Amino acid sequence: MRLSKIKMAGFKSFVDPTIIQLPSELVGVVGPNGCGKSNIIDAVRWVMGERSKHLRGDSMEDVIFNGSNTRKPVGQASIELIFDNSDGAIGGQYAQYGEISIRRQVSRDGQSKYLINGTKCRQRDVKDIFLGTGLGPHSYAIIEQGMISQLIEAKPEDLRIFLEEAAGISKYKERRRETENRMRHTRENLDRLNDLREEIEKQLNRLKRQANTAERYKKLKEEERRVKAELLCLNWQIQDTETREREQELKVKETRLDQLTAELRAAEVSLEKLRAEHTEANEAFNKVQGHYYRLGGDISRTEQSIQFSKDARERQQHECQGIQTELEESVGQMDNDRERMLGMQKDIDELE
Ligand code: ATP
Repeated sequence: MRLSKIKMAGFKSFVDPTIIQLPSELVGVVGPNGCGKSNIIDAVRWVMGERSKHLRGDSMEDVIFNGSNTRKPVGQASIELIFDNSDGAIGGQYAQYGEISIRRQVSRDGQSKYLINGTKCRQRDVKDIFLGTGLGPHSYAIIEQGMISQLIEAKPEDLRIFLEEAAGISKYKERRRETENRMRHTRENLDRLNDLREEIEKQLNRLKRQANTAERYKKLKEEERRVKAELLCLNWQIQDTETREREQELKVKETRLDQLTAELRAAEVSLEKLRAEHTEANEAFNKVQGHYYRLGGDISRTEQSIQFSKDARERQQHECQGIQTELEESVGQMDNDRERMLGMQKDIDELE
């Protein structure tokens, strides 16, 4: 397996799309300070999953070209590594490919993606490809300035990592770690499953009890339905008999009602007649009453005139008595006068 091409665009100082060909086992990059030599190896390590802070940057966007005096910043950085796999060093599902492209892309909005042969994948898939090949972000295949002295001075456990990678053991160690992880997860899952099984068994027992109760309930409900139906049937028979009787009674009552209606009509006719008679009698009564009141008036007038006559007679009798007394007085007077006249006549006669 050999890195044959590096395609860069928007990455650090490589703002324009740049292809670096690595045609043979030995390639040298020569240039003045700050021309971007280290950026090339940064690009390789970045694609292999290296973090920006290990690439002389603070954040993920720091690897994107951030502008110069003459150019504006760009929105995204993209690096593609082309590997020649004609020796089949990259195995697994990619073993069949003679050339393998691994690409990483990042944009200023924070989106980062990895692609293997144009298909989107996880960072882990990229790391897996290089496991045991000697390549990787921290592998011995990339030797930076000061790294040899670091290697010589490294602690045994750090040195062991390099040696294991060089011996191709790291791939198996990583796989063992993964397998152990998977086994641990599986055991945990198994424990969870056992808990679940116990819980489900409990639920099953509960459900069985509920099912028995439901079965009993169903039977009792069936019985209840049958009894209710019989009861309804009996009720219906009783109601039917009662309805027949009521219909009979109703017919009798209807006949009686017809009779009563006929009687009512006759009574109404006679009432009408009586009303007419009553009106006539009332008129006659009014007439008689008028006559009565007139007679009453006549009687009281007659009584008044009788009383008047009585009073007049009493007055006349009283006057008559007075006249009688006056007459008797006049007769007495006349007798006196006659005696006096007789006396006077005698006198006259004597005198003569
Ligand atoms: P030296 O020989 O001194 O190590 P070098 O040739 O390795 O230098 P690099 O360190 O690869 O050079 O490149 C540094 C250059 O890259 C600087 O000019 C710096 O301005 C430029 N550079 C780094 N990051 C960015 C970025 N995000 N955008 C634009 N330019 C960048």
